[in-house]
Amino acid sequence: MRPFTYVRAHEVGTALAEAEADSRADFLAGGTTQLDLMKDGVLRPDRLIDITRLPLHGIEERQGALIVGALVTMEELAADPVAGRRLPLVREALLRSASVQLRNMATIGGNLLQRTRCRYFRDPTVAACNKRDRGSGCAAVHGSHRTHAVLGTSEHCIATHASDVAVTLVALDAVVHISGAAGDRKVPLTGFYRTPGDTPDVENDLRPGELIAAVEIPLLPEGARSDYLKVRDRSSYEFALASAAVAVGLGADRRIEWARVGLGGVATVPWRAVEAEAVLTGSPADGEVFASAAAAAVAGAEPRPQNAFKVDLAQRTLVRTLQTVTGAGS
Ligand code: SF4
Repeated sequence: MRPFTYVRAHEVGTALAEAEADSRADFLAGGTTQLDLMKDGVLRPDRLIDITRLPLHGIEERQGALIVGALVTMEELAADPVAGRRLPLVREALLRSASVQLRNMATIGGNLLQRTRCRYFRDPTVAACNKRDRGSGCAAVHGSHRTHAVLGTSEHCIATHASDVAVTLVALDAVVHISGAAGDRKVPLTGFYRTPGDTPDVENDLRPGELIAAVEIPLLPEGARSDYLKVRDRSSYEFALASAAVAVGLGADRRIEWARVGLGGVATVPWRAVEAEAVLTGSPADGEVFASAAAAAVAGAEPRPQNAFKVDLAQRTLVRTLQTVTGAGS
């Protein structure tokens, strides 16, 4: 591993000042993926700022939302009683993400910023990876890309975003609270992530030296129906080939009054399927509507030879989740 300077911050202001002083500094929290990437030479910070002692550990219910500190662990959020009752799809996504050992280390802030599992990104002996080295090329486009994205891609990068919980949070209109030396700001998670375009190395809206302080998750209304379904190659602790986060309000006449839909495992960012929501809203909860919504969700897909199956898999995953939450059409 490349040598680096380690510092521990106890206040947010101190951490931001340390980051501002060194453009090659990184923050360290759970470190579950970050340290692997450093050992492999993919990440090479000059300075590592340990932020685990910052006062960003709380979970607070406030004005119809859950404010989750960035350093809350995945396990702590999964065990939170309000999250369990009012955000069951978030809890499901957390439990499906990782082993309990990892959930006890990994933080919510870190989860939102986790890096892609693309094998070429993680192997510095492969020269062509635009996400690691801008302009170097993309080994996956003509290489192994079975697990890669079909939505939000570009010719420069087709890597999927790895987070399960981010898919649910995008669907729920969560908001990221960001702290920086220039001040604090809030960004809707739907606008936080960047599709690759011709700069795949720029993955989100964070500016140099900024850190995620919290994520604000609007609670589902009482009576809402929701679920997160993850389809993967093996049943334990694997990344999604396709996943669906769904929340709906169902009227007494069994019409869908409102719908929130997110897709994972098939896109370069946690994917909000607004086209599917438009089909569902105001429609009866039946198989025909679900199939139309699923087709709308993947209408812009650009599959490649090895991952074309994901277009169908994503639709099946979404239809199954809609059947589960509405109890219709199965
Ligand atoms: Fe790199 Fe993205 Fe191509 Fe993977 S898909 S090799 S991360 S540029």
